[in-house]
Amino acid sequence: MGFINKLMDILFGQNTAREPVDEATSGPRVIPRDQHGISRRDISDNALKVLYRLKDAGYQAYLVGGGVRDLLLGGQPKDFDIATDAHPEQVHKLFRNSILIGRRFRLVHVRFGREIIEVATFRASHNGDNNGTEARQSESGMLTRDNVYGTVDEDAQRRDFTINAMYYNIDGFTIHDFANGAADIQSRTIRIIGEPYERYREDPVRMLRAIRFAAKLDFDIADQTGDPIDELGHLLQPIPAARMFEEILKLFLAGQGEATYELLQDYNLFRYLFPATQAAIEADQSEQQLVETFILRALRNSDERIGHGKSVTPAFLLAALLWAPLQSRVAKINNMPPLPALHQAAQDVIQEQVRSTSIPRRFSTPMKEIWDMQLRLPRRHGNRAEQLLEHKRFRAGYDFLLIREASGEDLDGLGEWWTRFQYGSDEQRLEMSKVLGKAPRPKRKRKPTNHQSDSSNQA
Ligand code: ATP
Ligand code: MG
Repeated sequence: MGFINKLMDILFGQNTAREPVDEATSGPRVIPRDQHGISRRDISDNALKVLYRLKDAGYQAYLVGGGVRDLLLGGQPKDFDIATDAHPEQVHKLFRNSILIGRRFRLVHVRFGREIIEVATFRASHNGDNNGTEARQSESGMLTRDNVYGTVDEDAQRRDFTINAMYYNIDGFTIHDFANGAADIQSRTIRIIGEPYERYREDPVRMLRAIRFAAKLDFDIADQTGDPIDELGHLLQPIPAARMFEEILKLFLAGQGEATYELLQDYNLFRYLFPATQAAIEADQSEQQLVETFILRALRNSDERIGHGKSVTPAFLLAALLWAPLQSRVAKINNMPPLPALHQAAQDVIQEQVRSTSIPRRFSTPMKEIWDMQLRLPRRHGNRAEQLLEHKRFRAGYDFLLIREASGEDLDGLGEWWTRFQYGSDEQRLEMSKVLGKAPRPKRKRKPTNHQSDSSNQA
């Protein structure tokens, strides 16, 4: 693909369209249509429809953010975001199929069947010249409201990273590069726009976004962009648990979960997402190996599934990420048979986790079922195995078991047994169940005394 080179020629070569001038006063570098790789064919019909209708109504209309970035990188954008000078109400009027959403950040969703095109009005930075109704900042500098409208130049300055501040103009098909994003695309660099400390204070989630884009695009984080993260990571603590949940889904379910995890650890942010898991990792040096190996295995497994176009449920991922704290919790519960102890521990672990990231019930229920399966899978005698095969969580539970074994846990070949059982003929299965004999006791390594004590101690 020669267009990036062409792009660099335009930006830095002889035929530079605009002399480089002082940052603050320079407008965007304009990349003409024949010198960038984006064609209208790459843009979804619905996004084009929105762009054209805005333009025809006399407004400015740009494709911006991931849509432009991913197309320039030769990838397929996940969605198309549009920026305009039309105010949300004006946008809403143009599209019957639209709704106004958001408070912290008001914008319009235009819906076409399953595709949603997000239309945002240009935002300006706000220097106290309004009385706090349209923009608000908490004491720590966090933006709690961001609805001061501005020009496209101003809009670009308040975006997060340089590579996310490139604007494809539907009027003339040029790309307007406000923050040197093209150069950072070329050098594969994540660079925050403006003063890093200030930008992270305004919105600490930008730290997670830096990691997410670095992992997803295989880019490096510029030093100035990465250096403050260790110090500022704690600012993630007050972020609402619901927003954090959205972020972890994006972090771990975009096909680069393993790389994302490594980066989160490198920048010391994982602890703010899964504090109990981090505690389990740090609790015992000898365990550390096992805990992290298991997490990495699970993430790699999800990445591979996503890579093959298979589905991955957040429940599976959460079950894996919280497996270590679940184990430590179970180990602390005495005088309870294994299953109730597991349920109690699950309850506790989830309760603690939702202080950091919410976990909607539609995920916590299957997550607990996957954990349950870990206790059920060893109990295979009689017709139990047949029944378990029918369980709606069998497959997930079995996959989970395989990951435990693959990461070094010794389960006496249980995974292999289940693999043979699933794919065996009726007779083979019958034989396998017979061979097991009567009610074999599952191995209990951690708490060998649990079971004996429960009958005497339970009221
Ligand atoms: P993807 O959709 O592939 O995850 P994206 O870059 O499109 O990546 P979105 O979350 O869809 O990310 O946001 C769209 C654009 O809005 C971003 O590219 C960026 O310009 C801007 N943006 C989003 N979140 C923030 C933020 N917290 N701070 C500043 N700008 C942001
Ligand atoms: Mg996007």
